[in-house]
Amino acid sequence: MLGVILVAATDEPARVDAQALLRRLEEGVQSVMSSEGWRSFLTAQAKFHSYSAGNVLLILAQNPQATRVAGFHTWRDLGRNVKKGEHGIAILAPVFPKREQEPRMEPEPAEGQGEERKPAVALDSSRLPVRFRVAHVFDVSQTEGKPLPEPPVHELRGGSAAALGLTVKLMALAQAEGLAVAIQPPERMPRGAKGYYDPLQGRIVLSEGLAPDQKAKTLAHELAHHRLEHGRGRAPGRPTEEAEAEGVAFVVCAHYGLDTSDYSFGYVANWSRDEGGPALVKQVSAAIQGAARDMIDGMEPKKTPVTSRVRTAQVREAEALER
Ligand SMILES: [Zn+2]
Repeated sequence: MLGVILVAATDEPARVDAQALLRRLEEGVQSVMSSEGWRSFLTAQAKFHSYSAGNVLLILAQNPQATRVAGFHTWRDLGRNVKKGEHGIAILAPVFPKREQEPRMEPEPAEGQGEERKPAVALDSSRLPVRFRVAHVFDVSQTEGKPLPEPPVHELRGGSAAALGLTVKLMALAQAEGLAVAIQPPERMPRGAKGYYDPLQGRIVLSEGLAPDQKAKTLAHELAHHRLEHGRGRAPGRPTEEAEAEGVAFVVCAHYGLDTSDYSFGYVANWSRDEGGPALVKQVSAAIQGAARDMIDGMEPKKTPVTSRVRTAQVREAEALER
């Protein structure tokens, strides 16, 4: 819970100390990353390879819905079995020369075809693949058994009045920005996403059936991608983009009285885990604050004309009295 951060105000939405909120986000990410659940999630995660771009394309061409992919034996190590009758997804696996043996003369492998994406290392010719063979992997949906440890990102299930009010404001903001908001059945969402921002088509797509709290949070997140110009000129890399967008959603939702900690801390931890976690949040906090302020300003009716009208009337009255 946010506790002290929301400061009650009488006739305006709760004023939020954005800096305090961002410190709370940093601490939340840190506490997720120190938890037991996080460690078992990472242990399971480490068993999955990072496939090369070529193999990712091969996997998605054969199974566009694939989310978690591994070989038969890896699934068994994780306590899951490939279901009977499932066909494997073909990928190219590098074959390395046996140690203490000269690599056989074979055509040189194309660059970037290795199965694993590893940091660049000094080239050791004895460790270059001598050829590629077809290997088969299976998506998690083709397996059954023990549930996989999940990152601690808890979908928001509530239906608060705060979320309903915020969704109306966010929809109006999206419209003002010239963005269409579409709803799609979950099975048509890419890789189980709850929402995505499509900068080329100028639209936001949300998954159908989200609870109001989650819907408001996801809409705020996708609008933040738009405001931060992700995919439209600014491309600081996916971990930074996700930390920024979720940070903005966290701050904007808190401003309107919706606490998204259960989702946001784990989400940011998961995306920032190779980039310093809370350190990345600190690094992007100015961008988060700026975009959150912009979004909140964009959602509030302009008060200046009303105030100046009232003041003008008062001035006129006062002038009339003086005459
Ligand atoms: Zn995102």
